[in-house]
Amino acid sequence: MNFSDSEIVASILAECDYSTTRNMEIADLILINTCSIREKAEDTVRKRLRIFNKLKEKRPGILIGVLGCMAERLKSKFLEQEKIVDIVLGPDAYRDLPKLVAEATEGNRAINVQLSREETYADISPLRLGGDGVTAFISIMRGCDNMCSFCVVPFTRGRERSRDCFSIVAEAQDLYNKGYREVTLLGQNVDSYKWQNPETGHTVSFAELLVMVAQVHPDLRVRFSTSHPKDITDEVLYAIRDYDNICKYIHLPVQSGNSRVLELMNRTYDREWYINKVNRIYEIVPDCAISSDMIAGFCTETYDEHLDTLSIMKIANYSMSYMFYYSERPNTKAARKYEDDVPLEDKKKRLSVKQRYGIIGKSEKLDMALNTALRVASTDLSVLIQGESGVGKESMSKIIHDYSPRKHNTFIAINTGALPPGTINSELFGHEKGAFTGALQSNPGKFEQAHGGTLLLDEISEMDIGLQAKLLRVLQEREVERLGGRKTIPLDVRVLATTNRNLQDEVREGRFREDLFYRLNVFPMRLQPLRNRTDDIIPLAEQLIAKYNTETHPLRLSSDAVNSLKEYQWPGNIRELGNVIQRALILCNGSEIHAEDLHFETDYLDQVSLEEDSRKNLTTNLKSHEYDLILKALNEGNGSRKYAAEKLGISPRTLRYKLARMRDMGMQIPVSG
Ligand code: SF4
Repeated sequence: MNFSDSEIVASILAECDYSTTRNMEIADLILINTCSIREKAEDTVRKRLRIFNKLKEKRPGILIGVLGCMAERLKSKFLEQEKIVDIVLGPDAYRDLPKLVAEATEGNRAINVQLSREETYADISPLRLGGDGVTAFISIMRGCDNMCSFCVVPFTRGRERSRDCFSIVAEAQDLYNKGYREVTLLGQNVDSYKWQNPETGHTVSFAELLVMVAQVHPDLRVRFSTSHPKDITDEVLYAIRDYDNICKYIHLPVQSGNSRVLELMNRTYDREWYINKVNRIYEIVPDCAISSDMIAGFCTETYDEHLDTLSIMKIANYSMSYMFYYSERPNTKAARKYEDDVPLEDKKKRLSVKQRYGIIGKSEKLDMALNTALRVASTDLSVLIQGESGVGKESMSKIIHDYSPRKHNTFIAINTGALPPGTINSELFGHEKGAFTGALQSNPGKFEQAHGGTLLLDEISEMDIGLQAKLLRVLQEREVERLGGRKTIPLDVRVLATTNRNLQDEVREGRFREDLFYRLNVFPMRLQPLRNRTDDIIPLAEQLIAKYNTETHPLRLSSDAVNSLKEYQWPGNIRELGNVIQRALILCNGSEIHAEDLHFETDYLDQVSLEEDSRKNLTTNLKSHEYDLILKALNEGNGSRKYAAEKLGISPRTLRYKLARMRDMGMQIPVSG
């Protein structure tokens, strides 16, 4: 939003013959567009202002101005108390900037932080700043009426007002004509957009606006940000479903996964309502990507309530989420009425990588894997993550994406073994209308959808060998051709892959292409199974107990249960541990879970006992064969120990030891003759 505002400001100043520069050393006027949403953003602005003021000491003629939310919030404090700026301009007063610059040049007080109920800057054509000529922002509404208790936006940006829909469509058309191919419709709360046509009296909704912009041209991709869940209507979802050029992505900030905390936040929905909304989105737009914002450590939030937020991440299957720890903003309802009582250290802990992804464990192996993931995240290398089912390969892929430079773009995962080859072909590479029976409309594949972001090829070893050649070509050429299409589409996608098999064995067996293996295995990672990191079993079990426990009293593990959990081999890894804990919660009495409440996967136990039986048989057979050989060697040498030891290739001492064992077992040993 601030970027879009800066483009409006640049356009207003261009009318007065100002031009922009990236070099502050030569600037006559330095404007900083600010955000007050978090304390950290304000700290950053203050640091910048100190740098600008150093410059001003060298060149006293330059002017420094603060625009946006922080200007509105701190008003004259900047000008009169701290004396670190010359101009203070609120978000609804940008048109006044030329006048304020003139006043500041004369050495006068230059401030306007008046909020407006009408200003939308609809008639101003923004000056595109430093863009790539392909993507652009279009501001469609300003302000917010929602009054979330933690948020300053309603105070700094004022009440909601929407821009004339025809000016928005005209701007989109103009951008398309100039070669732009993606527009993002922006607003504090875009989906509450409503503009009443003064001529017809009809109120245009966000869904209608979305369709109007999508109809500018099928090659113009349309995105929007940011939305309040309560305003994502079915009509918006139908528009997303029906128009290929509307990006199938919704930012749906949950803020908390706990109903009590949501009520304190005044979000106007509870956990159940939000989950239903997510389900509705997936029902109407099954391949929609959803992202979220979350606040950790809001006033009075307990650790268990924080776990509710983490559990929402799994339920909603977010492609991405932004997590922040709560920082109190002055004058908000939360600041006035609630105690900011979660210690900063706890807030930060709740944001740690492990917490964010619900990764519980303290083993060195887990920490090493996380460190490796964070390191490789900053590169653009392909990563092949190998590990048994249930060890968290997909979570690790998500971490790599979220900590990569691509984190603001889409993360798409596809299970390459879950669908038949024909379906995977069109899912992955896309298809044109009429490419096959039932292809009623063109569809971009996962590769195209992940453009600019990351594509996870889950369980890659299961991919049909015929399709592997096509995948290799796409990875090599970095372009894709849709099924039934003739056009090649350039791609900028980072590829991650996972497998629960040993892919080198698959190559040896001829089931996986060697060239594709090397293309994917640029950076290999292996996640250890649970049985190899026993330190993680009990913390994980305790977290799962807290998650699934529906009793009012806490439950804990008895010492015999702890031993059983540690001794078990966990072939199904964390997933299996979850099942065992859920069963134990049903079976246990009182406040402790005992060993007899733990029912491990019986199939596996059967398999293990079968394996153990056959291992025992094998050992017995080998032993008896060994004794036969010893007796034969002794008989050949007329009972000579020296002869037998040489014949068998063992030392006389080892032979003596083995003969003693045989005697103990009641066997007749030939004596030296
Ligand atoms: S909807 Fe968003 S902008 Fe509006 S008050 Fe809530 S958090 Fe702030």
